Amino acid sequence: MVDFAFTEEQELFRKAVREWREKELPLEKVREMDNKGEIPRELVKGLGDLGLLLMTIPEEHGGAGSDWVTACIAAEELGYADISIALPVLWLVGSSWGYVVDKYCSEQVREAVIRKAVKGDAFIGIASTEAGGGSDVAAFKSSARKEGDMWVLNGEKLYISGTEEAKKWGGGYFVIARTSPAPPEASHRGMTAFYLPIDAPGVEVYKRFEDMGRMAISTGGFAMDNVKLPDSHRIGEIDKGFYLTMEGFDNARILIAAVCVGAAQRALEIGMDYIKERKAFGKPIGKFEGIQFELADDWAQLEALRSLVYRTAWMNDKRYKEKKFSALEVSRMIAACKLIAPHFAFDVFKHVMLWHGAYGYTKECPLEMGLRGIMSYCVGAEGTSNIQRIVIARELLGKEYIPYK
Ligand SMILES: Cc1cc2nc3c(=O)[nH]c(=O)nc-3n(C[C@H](O)[C@H](O)[C@H](O)COP(=O)(O)OP(=O)(O)OC[C@H]3O[C@@H](n4cnc5c(N)ncnc54)[C@H](O)[C@@H]3O)c2cc1C
Repeated sequence: MVDFAFTEEQELFRKAVREWREKELPLEKVREMDNKGEIPRELVKGLGDLGLLLMTIPEEHGGAGSDWVTACIAAEELGYADISIALPVLWLVGSSWGYVVDKYCSEQVREAVIRKAVKGDAFIGIASTEAGGGSDVAAFKSSARKEGDMWVLNGEKLYISGTEEAKKWGGGYFVIARTSPAPPEASHRGMTAFYLPIDAPGVEVYKRFEDMGRMAISTGGFAMDNVKLPDSHRIGEIDKGFYLTMEGFDNARILIAAVCVGAAQRALEIGMDYIKERKAFGKPIGKFEGIQFELADDWAQLEALRSLVYRTAWMNDKRYKEKKFSALEVSRMIAACKLIAPHFAFDVFKHVMLWHGAYGYTKECPLEMGLRGIMSYCVGAEGTSNIQRIVIARELLGKEYIPYK
């Protein structure tokens, strides 16, 4: 039998997150964060106090031991509150990459970052992208070589979320670097994952980009110049970093989709309030079919997307807990969520902005923050749309149809 209901515990959890975000994250605060270009530290600590940070890691490691459905509830609520999506980004990179680091790391790394990140005392993120491109993971140039007991890392990582926050608050990144030369046809092999503290000697954060959206969280770049890390900072097995990276992307992508559901819901609610009030030709504009039909279409698609996202999160839980689905089956579903959700949410913001006329184009109206923020996930943070299509087509047609092989 199919049961589409959330558990009582999940309903109570949503209520608690909702109460928190209604109090701590009104739209005025989101605008202030967007203007100032920073997330107030107390908000992150608040997420920690609520048990929301890295919430899927086990309780014995400091997490809440939550499932991915519950994490998606948090993501939806945070996306609803911060439509600029800066705080949701900070939360979700920690939740997804913190999960992977915690799962495969040494006790030293767990002490150094995971146990701090769950309380909001450190940042943890992903640094995979390089100047030469982000989609082609196998082409990354960063390298790690073993010298005695230490690994020596060299290279550069670019377009990395949270570089300033990591510098200010402490913490670091899941990074991957080439550890073995590999034959071209299998060049994703030979990459190893490490935990890189941002304050390790030889790491230089040299750039903060002036992004178009999600202004409150930084996007930057850093160089690694003969950075020495002990073997305890290696995450998982030597030469197997690619697979861990894909696991992290899967978990990040499902949370992104849930954030987009929450943000699109907020946009529609803002829109409904407005079209009932705003009059043209003597009537509320919500009376005109040109507007209400678009609302109905968007609402119907939002409900379909929400169902897809939660079903996929449920599959992810079944994959981890019961091995009911394979990692590849779940990846395909998650790719579908990541492919659809950002573009859909972007379109909803665009529609609702147009209902607002000139007012919607101003910063007096909150909607433009959503349009700018969501665009980062259309562009490709945590993987572009074409990469999602490749994942889906690979599962539908077979590996021999991967276009770049
Ligand atoms: C705001 C923001 C924050 C980010 N944060 C992080 C972060 O925290 N950590 C991190 O590691 N990265 C981060 N990124 C980088 C992101 O992961 C990359 O932008 C993404 O992987 C794409 O890489 P690229 O930008 O180099 O584009 P490219 O890989 O150069 O791709 C360019 C275009 O070509 C298309 N393309 C590439 N290959 C194919 C193919 N085989 N078939 C069809 N089309 C193809 C892509 O879909 C895209 O449209 C962030 C990006 C943004 C915008």
